[in-house]
Amino acid sequence: MTESAALPRPAPMPDMLLDKEFWDFCSDRKLCFQRCKSCKTWRHLPRLMCASCGSPDWEWRESSGRGHLYSWTITHQAMLPAFADETPYAAIVVELEEGVRMVSGVQDIALDELEMDLPLEVAFLSISEDTSIPVFRHRSPAAR
Ligand SMILES: [Zn+2]
Repeated sequence: MTESAALPRPAPMPDMLLDKEFWDFCSDRKLCFQRCKSCKTWRHLPRLMCASCGSPDWEWRESSGRGHLYSWTITHQAMLPAFADETPYAAIVVELEEGVRMVSGVQDIALDELEMDLPLEVAFLSISEDTSIPVFRHRSPAAR
């Protein structure tokens, strides 16, 4: 076992209730975003008011988990020792069908396969007994 493999991968440490709720859904393997009850606009990152209409009324809704690759960068230097064995890796921005964009990572996608608009679907990576984080993989043909 290498030194980096022995280090725990950093887990989300939400300091606001809305962020905690987002990560709790992820640990239940559900990708959920807020949706405005007034104008139906989805949003991410979690916040108290709608940026489109200013309404404070919102609800959590489960995403389809389907989207496409909006942007990415390849990281060649691990910023934390826990990621040393994973370099190089891709940090991606996914645009979900609901219109929200989120930063994530990829699962089972070679770096040279990354291309604009690549169809993706969410998967969940378990990083501890009670924490899962969303990552994205090739969208299955049935979901296209
Ligand atoms: Zn709104």
